[in-house]
This record gives sequence, C-alpha cells and structure tokens, in this order.
Amino acid sequence: MIDLTSKKPIIISGPCSAETLEQTLATAQALAASGKVDIFRAGVWKPRTKPGMFEGNGEKALPWLVEVKNATGLPVATEVANAKHVEAALKYGVDLLWIGARTTSNPFSVQEVAEAIGGADVPVLVKNPMNADVELWNGAVERLAARGVKRLGLIHRGFSGYGSSQYRNTPMWHLALEIMKRLPELPIFCDPSHICGNRTGLLEVSQQAADLNFNGLMLESHVTPDSAWSDAKQQVTPERLTELLDSVIWRAEGSDSVAYQTSLDELRGVIDRLDDEILKLLSRRMEAAEGIGRIKRENNVMILQASRWNQVVERVLARSEELGLSQDFLKIILEAIHIESINKQNHVMKQ
Ligand code: PEP
Ligand code: MN
Repeated sequence: MIDLTSKKPIIISGPCSAETLEQTLATAQALAASGKVDIFRAGVWKPRTKPGMFEGNGEKALPWLVEVKNATGLPVATEVANAKHVEAALKYGVDLLWIGARTTSNPFSVQEVAEAIGGADVPVLVKNPMNADVELWNGAVERLAARGVKRLGLIHRGFSGYGSSQYRNTPMWHLALEIMKRLPELPIFCDPSHICGNRTGLLEVSQQAADLNFNGLMLESHVTPDSAWSDAKQQVTPERLTELLDSVIWRAEGSDSVAYQTSLDELRGVIDRLDDEILKLLSRRMEAAEGIGRIKRENNVMILQASRWNQVVERVLARSEELGLSQDFLKIILEAIHIESINKQNHVMKQ
C-alpha cells in the first residue's frame, strides 16, 4: 500500500458506489489510464439518509475491488461502518479503509470499528463528523490509535447545516486547520465532492485545499455520472476529473531561489518592525484608557458609555475602505481593544 505521506498530492478517486462489476471496472480502468489517480475508491456499504435509496451491494462487491486491483494495479479503498464490514474488507485485502462522516459522529460505532481493525496493518482515513465538532473528530482518531491502528489520516468533507447554501456540506476551513494543528503528523485529504454536492464547485474547493497544504484529494468519479445510483449530481467522468486535476495548482512549501529568500527576509523584517509599532501604540492606547478611568473615578462616573463606544466603532468602520481593511476584521480588532480597555479601567476604579 502506498505511503500516504510519500508524495504530494495523493489522489483518491472512483465512484460513490460500486454499482456493478462493469461500472466499477470501467471507471477504474479509465482512471488508471489517466495516470492521475493513486488509489481507487468505491463505496460498498452506503449509509443513506432514507430507506429505499441504494444502500450499496455489500460484500458481493468486494470481489469487484479485487478485480480492479488485478486489472489496474491501483490500491483499493472502501468505507467501513461496523465490525462485519471491517472483517469482510480485510478478508478481500482492501488496501485502505475510511470511516464515513455519519460513523465518526457515533463513538460506539468508531469503537466497534477500531476493535475490529485492531492490529491489522491497514491505513485508515477518518472523515470529519457531520456536525462541526473537532473534539469528536479527534476522539475518533484517538479511539483507533488506542486500538493499535498505526497508519491514520483524515478526510475533510465539510459539515452539514440547515437551509440553503452553495455547499452541500459547508467546508468551515478553520476546523480543518484546527485538526491539522492538533494532529500535525497525520496526512489530511479534502473531499470536494461531498463538500460541493455538485460539479461546478469542485475546482475551487480543490484549489483551496491545495493552498492550505492538504496532502491530497478524494474526488468521486463515474463512467456515466448522470445515471449514478448515488450522489449523481457531484460525480464527474474520468475525463473531466483529469481536466480538473490538471487545473489545480499545487504550490511548493518553500523555494531555494536566492531572490525569493532575500525578498521574504526583507518583508518579514518589515512585519516584525510593524508588529513592534502596533504593540507600542496599543500600549499607549491602554494608557489613555487608564487616564480616562482615573478621571471617571475622581468624578464618580461609570465606566461603560455605550453611545461613546458606538461613535468609536462607527468612526473607525467608516474608514475601512480607505484603509483597505474589511469591516469584519476591524470589528474583531475593536472588540478586543474595547474588552482590554474596560478591564484596565475596571482595575483603575478599584484602586
Ligand atoms: C462517501 O464517501 O461516499 C460518503 C458516504 O461520504 P460521507 O461519509 O462524507 O458522507
Ligand atoms: Mn458519495
């Protein structure tokens, strides 16, 4: 099995579901021929929102994955949600397992899967839970690690929400960055297909993942996506997938170019000096606030004066455009300054 950190990007692709041997094999052969895909994915057990939807072919489809591997040489991956799935997948030599978003949301299921995998030497990717809860995501990884799963990774597939949005599952990139910060040694993949729920957004989301230093992508592809039995709207043909992957720019983490290093060092120096100035100004601003605190105390006037604060905010926000700074950013900065000013004045009052 391919080492998930050995190259970048690693591309995982294949249909949402293994529908028939023909569809699975034809998709895999086209993907292998493109030379762009490292791992073939296909769902065998499909967690569906409502009964009556296609729930996957189950164990019957596992020999199809073996055929894919024999015919194309691509390692194969599937989703597992309980101990039976794990046993069957391992029996057929599935090379990589992933835990779906609905399963990650349920600690009992994750525990069951973790115990079933135990010491088997198979890489496991953990999708984020449906809800925006990094602890739950992290907890699932901990459960697997505690049971001896050594090759772990993450898949960011967005978080479900209510109401209309351009996304099927909102990416909330800051949560992906948070888990990257907590588990820096784990490779992380982005699943633009389940984030978008359509084909038009795939490139933009893929590029964003590349720019945020993800290790690779999981994208759904299908020989005849319009007639797919699950997730038809978001799947693309292998040809379209190739075009898409050719359009994503994977930038380097650094550069040896001397000119680049010189400019970078210079600009970083500028930033450090500006940060020092900002700190000095903030300190002077707090001294002024303390001065106000003292005269308020002497004149027995209360600290918080909402009308004055509204004026401060309005005056600053009115200048946002001329300064090239967003109102959202300025609001956060002002809020933080206000909290610290009030703390300082409170302190003076108590003296
Ligand atoms: C899938 O990968 O087809 C799938 C069911 O994804 P998720 O668990 O992210 O919904
Ligand atoms: Mn799917």
